[in-house]
Amino acid sequence: MTPETISKIKGLSITQVAEKLGFTVVKKKALCFSHDDRTPSLNFDEKKGRYRCYVCDVKGDVINLVEENLNLPFVDACAWLINQFQLVVTEPYRLSRFKKANRVVKYTLPVIQSPFQPNPDIYEWLVKQLTLSQTGLNYLTTKRGFSREVIEELDIRDITDPITVFNTLKEEWGTDALLECGLCKIGDNNIVKNIWWDYVIIFPFADLNYRIQYLQGRRLNIDRIPNKYINLSNIRPYVYNIHILTQLNDGDQLYICEGIPDTITAMHLGLKAIGVLGASNFDSELVTMLMKYRIGVMPDADTGGQIFMDSVRKAFNEKGKTVQKYNIPKPYNDLNEYFITKDC
Ligand SMILES: [Zn+2]
Repeated sequence: MTPETISKIKGLSITQVAEKLGFTVVKKKALCFSHDDRTPSLNFDEKKGRYRCYVCDVKGDVINLVEENLNLPFVDACAWLINQFQLVVTEPYRLSRFKKANRVVKYTLPVIQSPFQPNPDIYEWLVKQLTLSQTGLNYLTTKRGFSREVIEELDIRDITDPITVFNTLKEEWGTDALLECGLCKIGDNNIVKNIWWDYVIIFPFADLNYRIQYLQGRRLNIDRIPNKYINLSNIRPYVYNIHILTQLNDGDQLYICEGIPDTITAMHLGLKAIGVLGASNFDSELVTMLMKYRIGVMPDADTGGQIFMDSVRKAFNEKGKTVQKYNIPKPYNDLNEYFITKDC
């Protein structure tokens, strides 16, 4: 539980919590659960959010009241309260640390006018089922030059058997939920299709609370079908490595990269970087969030890179902020290409 979640829970009305637990509260008093009580001696202090019995001196806050009465450990008591009162909380997904599946904690997504919504519960569940095969590891280390530490930190995994993975997903979550979060789509003849049909490396996009908001697949076998990157269906790509913002102070340098490999490369070079998947995913909400940093961009040395640079610059200029452009040394096309060739 994050401190924010706990303070949200502690902000609940102690009387309402007591009533949910089955107490009859009259004039802020109820029969005590801890001693043989005939006249109500359990007092509720609405302001402090606490209870106390003036006979046996049992006392505590809303969470203690649930712990005591339902005989639950702290975390489960919190989860019970979150569910009972439909609290909107964001619990962190801890990268590289597997937590128990089937958590009871509910969360609510911001309302967007679309039936398609990212679903961190499903994405995290999927990532936890996956490992990284030797093929994936070889590609990331040898071809891309990424270290094992960074691969682990970013929770990069792969799918070697997409059919089995898809069937497991369907069994656990149902087709409707998978459609809504972009993990499958309706193909010809109304047939539900897995979005990843052959070997892919999976890059999870964690938000500031370490919850996974997006997944991108990287195919390696591109002889027959040339698509390298496979995005979720109908879900807007999230910003890659946005969690780096928690390590920045106001005025620090932040690099905006196009795509995942350049972002990871920048990190290897000791730069703080976030990745945006294409110019169209650069929006004003993100700009507002980044106003307090010095912004640098290392666009690819091609037309796409120029378009990307222009759109980032325009978005910041509109808010009165300048953006520094850093050129990739010739003849390299992008940062990762430079990195793996140059032996930085
Ligand atoms: Zn008592």
